[in-house]
Amino acid sequence: MLRPSRNRQLIGNRAIDIDNRLIHPISFSQFHIDIVLLTALRSLGDEMLRSSGRRVRHQCGCLCPRRSTSSASHEPSPPSPSPPLAEDFPSWAYEPRSFFRFEIIKQSSKSLARVGRIHTPHGVVDTPGFVPVATNAALKGVSFQNQPDNQLVFANTYHLLLHPGSDIIRGAGGIHNFTKRRRGPFITDSGGFQVFSLAYGSVQEELSSKGELKRARIKAKPGWRNDVMGKDAVKVTEGGARFRSYRDGSYILLTPESTIDAQKDIGADIIIPLDELPPYHISRQRLNESLQKSHRWEARSLQQHLKNVKNQAMYCVVHGGIDVELRTQSIEYLTSLPFDGYAIGGSLGNGRAELKELLSWMMPLFDKDGRRDKPRHLLGIGDEESVRNAVTMGLDTMDSCYPTRLGRHGTLLTRQGLLRIKRGANARSFGMKICQECNCSTCKRYDRAYLCHLFKANEPLGVMLATQHNLTYMSDMMEELRQGIMDDRI
Ligand SMILES: [Zn+2]
Repeated sequence: MLRPSRNRQLIGNRAIDIDNRLIHPISFSQFHIDIVLLTALRSLGDEMLRSSGRRVRHQCGCLCPRRSTSSASHEPSPPSPSPPLAEDFPSWAYEPRSFFRFEIIKQSSKSLARVGRIHTPHGVVDTPGFVPVATNAALKGVSFQNQPDNQLVFANTYHLLLHPGSDIIRGAGGIHNFTKRRRGPFITDSGGFQVFSLAYGSVQEELSSKGELKRARIKAKPGWRNDVMGKDAVKVTEGGARFRSYRDGSYILLTPESTIDAQKDIGADIIIPLDELPPYHISRQRLNESLQKSHRWEARSLQQHLKNVKNQAMYCVVHGGIDVELRTQSIEYLTSLPFDGYAIGGSLGNGRAELKELLSWMMPLFDKDGRRDKPRHLLGIGDEESVRNAVTMGLDTMDSCYPTRLGRHGTLLTRQGLLRIKRGANARSFGMKICQECNCSTCKRYDRAYLCHLFKANEPLGVMLATQHNLTYMSDMMEELRQGIMDDRI
């Protein structure tokens, strides 16, 4: 058995969202109503599964369920229903979508890499493509206006649910109208990642504690209540995950159905079902229990989605850590259901080398049994080395806040490696471009000396210019990778 683990650097990129968020004064009155509705939906979802008469088995697949050792509060393991099978979904759900299509333009003869296009209601995504993260429906420091339309943008349902509320975005006519990015596609997640971070702390914290951190440390963020993290922060049941608002401490229930309703309001082109994010230090039995729960939750989310598709595509999230048997089981089950694409989530290895190893045996599984024709997304990976490797392994898109976060802190991506612009050596680099090969709006006009000054003076313009450069760098890199595949060099 391989030990499950998670990449500290790479998955940590996603965890930063919850730490670096902007806090706004908001009204939570809508949540009191939502909680009642969500509870009712949860009960309804449970009842649907119970009444289906399917066989009941323990979550861990054995005869002796044990209490969870994870930091989130779990109920003692009751018998749980098996997730629905492929034939339990309507046959029309397996038909091609008129509004969503993945087109493979070129399959490399040297690797699993491919060039393709994802056709969505709001434009075409060229793949392989990098997906920048716009946590609060905004890229930090830059405008959508200056970004290419042929790339997906990732927004976080958890943050949008808390503020401004999915009803506000629905009222604006959806995220495309709200942000005025009408010709560029969006993808939203379920919100589960951030909710589970409330219990386990950031991935970085949990990893560095070597498993001794059983609950998130209670750290009051600016504007946060100090009692919404750590002990009793998240209670996980078969129904969903209950967490506390960082604003007023009220309890909010995120269920497989409620996240879909929220994502319907937001209106992204691609949406994600609810899954459980298991902590890094976890027994195999607990990982298996978590995997089975994610399967049941994802199937419930899919059922909810199919009640009103609304021209949205839904990707599943494959789990199983780096355990070959569990990962394979997850791929076989989830790809049998009528999802429109496949996202790779969960524990992706402790470092780039382990991620590479995981992808090397996992991705060929996506190349057989009719799975080749759907797009594949890698969740939370954005450093250059890992992106290049993921592309050769046949990943089509990958999201990360890596380039925007680096830009905020004055680190610039260049062909020669990371450039820390605040270093004194840059103070007199007059006329020296950030990156000789780059033709972004920053590099066309400004030099290293001016950017060094802006960061040292804490001028917001520095962040804007650095972020614009980093996003262009990633976009250019993906274009080169696509060309490399077309030329059979990759
Ligand atoms: Zn540039």
